[in-house]
Parts: sequence; structure tokens; C-alpha cells
Amino acid sequence: MMTTPTTQHNVPTKKTKNPNEQPLLLVVEDSPTTQALLSKYFGSHYRLLHASDGVEACDVIAMNPEIALIITDINMPNMTGHQLLVKIRKSENNHVKNLPVIVMTTFEDNTDRNLAFLNGANDFITKPIDEMELLARVNVHYRLAHTIRELEASKHALAELATTDPLTRLRNRRAFFENGAKALAMARRYVSDISVILLDIDHFKKINDNYGHQAGDEALMVVAHIMTELTRDVDTVARIGGEEFAILLPDTNRLGTAVLAERIRASIEREQFIVGDKIVPITVSIGIASFGVDPGEDIDQLLGVADNRLYMAKNSGRNRICVNDEGKTTFA
Ligand code: GH3
Ligand code: MG
Ligand code: MG
Ligand code: MG
Repeated sequence: MMTTPTTQHNVPTKKTKNPNEQPLLLVVEDSPTTQALLSKYFGSHYRLLHASDGVEACDVIAMNPEIALIITDINMPNMTGHQLLVKIRKSENNHVKNLPVIVMTTFEDNTDRNLAFLNGANDFITKPIDEMELLARVNVHYRLAHTIRELEASKHALAELATTDPLTRLRNRRAFFENGAKALAMARRYVSDISVILLDIDHFKKINDNYGHQAGDEALMVVAHIMTELTRDVDTVARIGGEEFAILLPDTNRLGTAVLAERIRASIEREQFIVGDKIVPITVSIGIASFGVDPGEDIDQLLGVADNRLYMAKNSGRNRICVNDEGKTTFA
């Protein structure tokens, strides 16, 4: 019986790709002959940009954030390949700083090669350039950089997931305490204020019971949205329990905290939360505490003080804030 031999293809399949999806390479080379040769070798596998010295390369890099890899000559007028490498590795732009760079050196010159590695080159290729070797090295470094970027992205996504409340997209309990510990350390070092707000939705169980869990979830999102709108970027707004929220306020004294707490309370009371054809009132009770003026050595203890005051706010009728242990709703 005859079998058809299978053919092994080593040719990159990128040829069939939409040209706009091909990776963009920057070739930095002052010799037009070498430029032309490289253009021919890269042919249809990559899109190419050219620069004839380091200075021009810097401009091209700045204008083309989609550049995925750089191949550079060493000896060029104005700015050498070594100087270009140093500039790239010192870039404030993280993508540029980590771009794979392959240097082209002459076979005999290992001084240049070693210096290039010291300056952060990823690889080298010797002149005269071998087409297959060039493509193989570029492929390896392009794929490696791509994989590293994907890893970084999933690391970032995981960290985000571990600190985010999935329903409200606020920080979760864990993130609140992590940020709290850091912010408290800063406040101690710079002798600055730091306060917390603890907020609990009033009779939330009734919203669930009367209108369903879905409506309850939407109410949580509405409250989360109002809290986010009324706070600053440096504040940490978190959902730390079922219908319990906390805000960490760096650089905020107890007066400022009381003002913000009352603003949040009033804003939630004013909100027209609609379920079906009904307006469902939502109110919240709030306790506050400030480091330095209230007892507490850490954020957990400070939150404990705020919790006692929240309890007082609940017991004295709900839909109010409580700012001290006497049950006051304002410092005025
Ligand atoms: P109070 O004014 O004393 O705070 O009364 P309350 O009903 O808000 O307090 P309680 O602690 O008795 O009830 C909290 C309710 O919150 C009970 C629980 O079913 C509900 N809850 C907790 N997490 C969620 C959630 O993620 N979604 C919804 N829809 N409800 C939740
Ligand atoms: Mg040259
Ligand atoms: Mg409640
Ligand atoms: Mg509660």
C-alpha cells in the first residue's frame, strides 16, 4: 500500500497573513546596500521601517509605538548603535525600554558585540548576513517579547482580579486593608491625616425581599457608583462585606471626612432608584474615624471605631452619619 509522505514546512505561515497584522521592525543602518538586502530578506514576513542613524531611529521609534523589534548597525554617523541602545534601555516608555534589539556586527569584532550585550542588546548577527539565521533570530526574539508581554498582561489581570469586587468593580476587602496599611505608613512618616468612612445600607434585606436579589445587586452598584463619583482618585473605595462599604481617605481630617460622609449620605438619599415602575428609596448609615484623634493603632482598629459609630447611627434612626462616640452627626 502506498503512503503519501508528509512534507515538513519550516516556512513561516505569516506570508498568508494580512500585511497590516505583520510585526513592524525597525532597521537602523547607514549603508543603503545593507538596507536593501535586509528589505529583501524580510520580504513578506515583516513590515519594515528604516533609519540611517541613531538620531533618526529615536524619532522613528517615538512616532511608531507599534514597532516590535529593532535591528541596528553599530558604526553609523551622528549616533552609533551603542548610543542608541543605551538610549532605548534608559527610555521612560516601558514598551520602548523593553524592545528586543539585535545588533549587526562584523564577525571579527567581538569587542563591539560584548559592549552591545553590556548595553542591553538581546542578540547579535554577524555581517555578511545569512538570510536564514537573520529570520530565525528575529523570529525567536519577536516571539519571546510577545510571550513576555502576554505574561505581564495576565499578571496584571490576575492582580486586578484578586483586588476587585466582581459585582461593583470597587476594591475588595483585601485591597482595602492592603492600601490601608500602606497609606497609614505614609501618614505616619509624613505626619499627615488619614480617615475612614464605614457605610452600611439601611434595611437592605427588605430591598432583596420586596424586589428580588437582582434589584438588591443593582442597588449595591448604584451606591458604589455614587461613592466613586464623590471621592478622589487617591481614596480607596471598597466593598468590604455584603452591603457594607469602606472608604480610605489619605490627607483628610475628621472635619473633611464628616463633610464627605454627609455628602454621600444625602446623595444616596436623593438618588431615584427605580425598580419596574416603582421608586425604591435607598438610605445608608455611616460611621467615621480619623487616625490620631480617635483610638486605634492600625486600620482595622480605626474601622472598629467607625463601626461603633455606624451602630450608633443605626440605633438612632438610620439614614444619618455619626462622627463621634457621643452620637453627633456633625462637628459644628
Ligand atoms: P440594617 O439597616 O440594620 O443594616 O439592615 P439590613 O437589612 O441592611 O441588614 P442585614 O445585615 O440584616 O442584611 C443584610 C442583607 O444583605 C442580607 C443579605 O441577604 C444581603 N446581601 C449581602 N450581600 C448581598 C449581595 O451581594 N447581593 C444582594 N442582593 N444582597 C446581599
Ligand atoms: Mg555602518
Ligand atoms: Mg444594612
Ligand atoms: Mg450590614
